[in-house]
Parts: sequence; C-alpha cells; structure tokens
Amino acid sequence: MKQVYLDNAATTPVRLEVEVAMRPYFCEKYGNPSGVYQMSSENRGMIENVREQIAKTLNASAEEIYFTSGGTESDNWAIKAAAQMLKEKGRHIITSKIEHHAILNSCAYLEKQGFEVTYLDVDEWGSIRLDILEKAIRKDTILISVMYANNEVGTIQKIAQIGKIAEKNDILFHTDAVQAYGQLLIDVKKENIDLLSASAHKFNGPKGVGFLYIRKKIPLPEYIHGGKQERNHRAGTENVPGIAGMGKAAEIAFTTREYREKEIQQLRDYLIRRLQRGIPYCRLNGSLTNRLPGNCNISFQFIEGNELLLLLDEKNICASAASACSTGDTSPSHVLTAMGIPEKLARGTLRLTIGYQNTQEEIDYTVQCIKEAVEKLRENAEDYRRYKETFPCNIM
Ligand code: PLP
Repeated sequence: MKQVYLDNAATTPVRLEVEVAMRPYFCEKYGNPSGVYQMSSENRGMIENVREQIAKTLNASAEEIYFTSGGTESDNWAIKAAAQMLKEKGRHIITSKIEHHAILNSCAYLEKQGFEVTYLDVDEWGSIRLDILEKAIRKDTILISVMYANNEVGTIQKIAQIGKIAEKNDILFHTDAVQAYGQLLIDVKKENIDLLSASAHKFNGPKGVGFLYIRKKIPLPEYIHGGKQERNHRAGTENVPGIAGMGKAAEIAFTTREYREKEIQQLRDYLIRRLQRGIPYCRLNGSLTNRLPGNCNISFQFIEGNELLLLLDEKNICASAASACSTGDTSPSHVLTAMGIPEKLARGTLRLTIGYQNTQEEIDYTVQCIKEAVEKLRENAEDYRRYKETFPCNIM
C-alpha cells in the first residue's frame, strides 16, 4: 500500500488546482504589490479579489479580512491586541481549557502582563456549558475566546449561542476557526463573531498563510509594525503566491463543501464502526453529533499511543496521537485531560483525520493494521492480561 495520509487536522495536501493558481506568482508575476508598475498593481488586484472572495464565504465584507501568516499569528494578534485595546475597561479574559496552544500560550503571556484568565471546563464530550460560561462573566470581562471546533477531538462548539452571550454582555468575541473554516458554514453576522482566525493549510491551501476577520466597528490595534500593508494593520510584504493559493483553496472548499462533507463523514463513520467492532477495550472521544466530519479520536486501553504510531508508520500510515504541535510531548493531551479521560487511557489515543483524498480501501487497510498493532502491543501488557481475566467482555 502506498502512503495512507490520515492526519488532515495537522495539515492537508495542496490541491493541484491550488498549486497551479500559485505558480505564476513565483517567477512570472513576482512584483511587490506595493510597487507602482503594472505587475505590482495586478498583484494588488489579485489580493483584493481574494479578500472579497474570502469575505463572501463568511458573510463579511472585504475590508474586514486581514491576511496573516496563518492560524498562530491570527490568534496571537486577536488575543493580545484585544487585551491591549480594552485594558482600561477591564483585565479579565475567558477562554477554554481545550484551546490550541496559540490561544493558551497567548493567554499565559497576558497573565504575566497582569490580565486574569478564566479557563472554562468542558464536559465529557468536549463541549463548553453555556451556563458555566455565563457564570464566569464579570464586570471587567473584556474578551471571550472559544474555538469553533477542536483540533484533537473535533467537537464543534455552540458558537452562535456563545456569540449571543458575548453580545448581550458587551464583550468582544473571538473564535479560532482554524479547524472549522472550509469544512463548516460560518456566518460571522448571524453568529455574532467579532474576530475569527483561519489558516489555509487546513483546507488544502499552502502553509504560512491565513487571515484574521476583524468586525468593522472594532478598532483592533495593529500587531506587526512596519510598512502600510493590510491597511496599516499588518506590515510586511504580502505572501502573494500564498494568498493566490488560499483564494483558490477557499473557492474549492466552498463549492465542494456539501458533497465533501457527506462523503468524508460516511468514511469517518465507517472507520469508527470498524474500529469499535473489531478492537475490544476502546473508546471514541468527543461528541457523536457535534463533530467535524473527518475526525476520529479513539483511545485503546493498555497501550501507548506513541508506540502505536510507530507501528503504523512502519505500514506507511500517517496518523497522530494528539495534535501535531504536541508531537514528542509525553504528557497526556490537555484536551482529553479536560474532558476527564483517565491518564492511562488518554495515553493510548490515536487521532485519525480524513480528507477528500482518502478512500475506503485506505480505511480498510488502516483498520487491519491498527488491529494487528494493538494486539501486538497488548501481548506484552501485563495489566491487559489481568484485566481480561477479570472482565472478559468489552465494557468501556
Ligand atoms: N488553531 C488550531 C485550532 C489549530 O488546529 C492550529 C494548527 O494546528 C492552529 C491554531 C495554528 O495554525 P497554523 O499552523 O496556521 O499556525
């Protein structure tokens, strides 16, 4: 079997059409968009077309879209600049325990600057409880940042309701939509979203480019200082090929979204069914219904997820134990811990994320390899033998 890539939450392959759209901007149309000559103004035109096009996918307007280097930069900008802008009004921020480290570490930085951060608990499915969010709001709360969908377990949050709560309390609302944009329909107006981060490499675009949506009425200060690019808000020569590629990737993601969602979801449900039926002592993590279409996050008791990954790598299967950013980290995932998954079980976790390019044949091959690998790892597990003798049926 050729390589089976099931790590589409970490990054996605660039579509051929996207690569074709980017190509001219390397060696032919390489002009700096800030130049005065024709090649530059054409590139400026392309950038503005992509801005317009991305805005449409969110029900936003073009002047509300700012290009960045990706999700991490957009998250840093949103959180730190919002705190800076509103520090006279208050110094309390609400986020969740299951956010990406781009948010968690930005909040940790702000804590050192004298801000207070409440990290909301989640339930066993990875969902934030709205009553707990409402209770966490204080007079000095200036920002709520809750991710649209989680990168590890795929749980989709009740963003429209959170937006309503934020609006009712006159609090700025940011959502990290890096995993959701291109997969789910997002309407920033209906969902009362003030700030939204996205990244092209999660929807079959290139790496190192993304955007931050900033609602028009919000005077969010600039984050990177320098030239006048991005209407004085984000200095630095634009990533012209990257923006061209992101535009094409967004176009394809939205024109094919419905049918892709259906196909990917069917494949994901097939994968989950086969794993649950074929391998005892396993547990699906995350919500069954409010879940990203391609996400399967499953824990196998009595094994180490990192050992499983190595055996799968020998079979040419690319998967991950948690998020790509925590690879090499031996502590259990902060997301699974927040969901109350016991540490031992969390350590045996595998994240498989399906993309448009995956096939049923690949899933069948992967399930067979996982089955063999889990059996092999359990052969040496003393606690597995003891457990099986005491509880011979598959209850978890
Ligand atoms: N936020 C979430 C939810 C993510 O999954 C990621 C990437 O894994 C990021 C932010 C960071 O995005 P980027 O890789 O574009 O910096």
